[in-house]
Amino acid sequence: MKFSAASMALRAVRKHRGWPPMWRPAEPRRHYDVLIVGGGGHGLSTAYYLAANHGISNVAVLEKGWIGRGNTGRNTTIVRSNYLHGPSTRFYDHSLQLYETLAHELNINLMFSQRGVVNLAYGRQELRAMNRRVNALRHLGIESRMLSLAEIGERVPLLNLSREAARPIFGGFIQERGGICRHDAVAWGYARGADALGVDIIQGCEVTDFDLQGGQVIGVHTSLGHIGAEKVALAVAGHSNLLANRAGFELPLTCLTLQAMVTEPVSPMLDVVLDGPVYVSQSDRGEMVIGGGTDLFNSHAQRGMAATAEQTFAAIVDLFPSFAGLSWLRQWAGMVDYTPDHSPIMGMTPVSGLYISGGWGSYGFKAIPAGGVTMAQTIAQNCPHPLIKAFSLERFASGALIDEGASAAMDLESAIL
Ligand code: FAD
Repeated sequence: MKFSAASMALRAVRKHRGWPPMWRPAEPRRHYDVLIVGGGGHGLSTAYYLAANHGISNVAVLEKGWIGRGNTGRNTTIVRSNYLHGPSTRFYDHSLQLYETLAHELNINLMFSQRGVVNLAYGRQELRAMNRRVNALRHLGIESRMLSLAEIGERVPLLNLSREAARPIFGGFIQERGGICRHDAVAWGYARGADALGVDIIQGCEVTDFDLQGGQVIGVHTSLGHIGAEKVALAVAGHSNLLANRAGFELPLTCLTLQAMVTEPVSPMLDVVLDGPVYVSQSDRGEMVIGGGTDLFNSHAQRGMAATAEQTFAAIVDLFPSFAGLSWLRQWAGMVDYTPDHSPIMGMTPVSGLYISGGWGSYGFKAIPAGGVTMAQTIAQNCPHPLIKAFSLERFASGALIDEGASAAMDLESAIL
């Protein structure tokens, strides 16, 4: 039997009617054991592991908009663990390991693809720094290796390897286990999993202030009224400082606008993720997904300046001259919260019972599973999980910073501007 495209589309629409919602529409109760502020990947995974690993399910996730409206639904979906320092590498590799089994755990198609992440070096100094990074990674048992220019050319034939390029490439390194993963499926999978374990997912509920008693948090004020709680965790990315200030303390965070964009779909031509002055991968639909730089000023906008987009395109056309003929389909941006050392802030705060997972900047998507596991244990036991001890807020007082500027590609993002 033959079907026209229109009748097939109609059959598909009919077939997809009546699907149950992925989680219950929940109204806030008067009191919870734990409140999580922010329905992005970090808030949702923390709620899921509180219930799954610690049996704490009297938990609500309070999201001022809708699930995944923040950076979790806006990122370029790159997952990798090729950082420099021990605490970061161990943490991000634990996250990558969790990603490897996450689709099975959450029973959802995450389109997880370990196609390899290639970092490009734009000078001899950078090549030397990458060599050091590869040695540090291998020292911790994490496979990665340097790539010669010829090997890069074989892996990515359309790449401009000419010395006449605006920024000639000198070599690079690869982590074969790195790749991409569908971002909104991660958020939906954790939300559905948490809901199934009894967690309330409450959308359209903005936290505006805290209820404190003798230096201890006892609840929050929200757009839906007061909600009491034993413990509260903040996972609000670019809004972290606004809420920390309401609770009476400061965080060393800067909020910047980070852009991404996609082109029209083309035939398969890029089967790795490239991380350079801009980063690029090809989606299953064929679009080139491009991550650019940050705008030059602090902002809570989710749009991004045209000048930054233009510079990103100039950099991508320098890498791939054949992209000059591609149409640009969509552009968007997120509010990313950077710490001075480009590592996150995780754990306790100066307010008793108030926890934070923030400062995730442009690198927090890959960290969502490990962030959730470690924050859940930290909240359940009121003691930092060993994997995140080094990421405490106190490091900015003690000076024990974990400088991951180069591994977080921050030096490169600013280099295109
Ligand atoms: P979010 O997902 O932003 O969630 C925070 C939530 O808190 C939001 O939904 C917001 O509405 C809510 N909220 C805020 N204030 C309140 C309030 N008062 N009350 C209630 N709710 C509130 N990372 C990678 O690892 N790989 C990448 O390739 C990558 N690319 C990126 C590209 C772009 C363009 C951007 C913007 C980011 C990128 N990132 C990447 C970074 C990554 O997306 C973030 O670090 C990560 O998603 C942060 O997750 P989160 O849950 O902390 O925050």
